[in-house]
Amino acid sequence: MKRGIFFISLILFNFCFSKVKDKIYVVTTTQDLAHFVSVIAEDKAEVITLSYGWQNPHNVELRPSMVANIRKADLIVRIGMDLDSWVDNLIFTSGNKKVFYGEVGNLDVSLRIKKLEVPQSKIDASMGEIHIFGNPHYWLSPENAKIILEDITERLAILMPDFKSYFETNKNRYLKLLEEKVYIWKEKIAKINNKKVVSYHKSFAYFCDFFGLKEIATLEPKPSVPPSPKYIKYLIEKLKDEKPTVILHENFYSTKYTDFVSKSVGVRYEVVALSVGGSKEIKDYITLIDTIIEAICKYEK
Ligand SMILES: [Zn+2]
Repeated sequence: MKRGIFFISLILFNFCFSKVKDKIYVVTTTQDLAHFVSVIAEDKAEVITLSYGWQNPHNVELRPSMVANIRKADLIVRIGMDLDSWVDNLIFTSGNKKVFYGEVGNLDVSLRIKKLEVPQSKIDASMGEIHIFGNPHYWLSPENAKIILEDITERLAILMPDFKSYFETNKNRYLKLLEEKVYIWKEKIAKINNKKVVSYHKSFAYFCDFFGLKEIATLEPKPSVPPSPKYIKYLIEKLKDEKPTVILHENFYSTKYTDFVSKSVGVRYEVVALSVGGSKEIKDYITLIDTIIEAICKYEK
């Protein structure tokens, strides 16, 4: 009898163990990260995102199901730099120690990013919703996407060492594809004479830095602060003077001010997504960057 129970336990153990080994449960804070994990892990991970690409990443509404997902997670992948700090409490509430900060199951992909706009002075409320660790919208630079993919590959290989070369192969395949696209994107951007762009929020700092574009203004006077009539007046004068190629308008903000400024200055605006899942068509990172490049270069021959 005892022997029978032992064998049942062994079978159960093997079943559970092999289940853990063959597939892990990954939770990401954004849809871009879920996409990147899927690219590397393919069927070796079940991936759940806590927020969606069509949402404003600064204002993510928390749901009880998020805690339930984190409780099951073997790995959490996050943007960091304060953008998804809302997940900290959820992790704590879940009680899942595997994914606590500092554990192998907690991956912050911002750590190796060369950060832009890190505040140099003391921060106070007058500066708007400033990100204290710098501008967190770094995933829009393909150079940073490469870092994210490398970090995810490395962490998955630690958690599932048997599949290390599988993950490496997937990463290398994707990076090759990305590299080919970067070449095409850069060629398109190079053809534009006027490299000046404007956006609603300061979302394109890394994108502009990577592609050699010049971000000359934002519709928001300060991060997450809507423009005042006085600021709009100032902006219209400035843009009449400097004539940007385009105003990039992030698709989760109202177009009210952008529309007005665009008409007043005589510069077109284009509504763009900031993340994978930002619209129905944007199912992957390459399509995401494609659509932004397309919006900028639309009228270039
Ligand atoms: Zn922001």
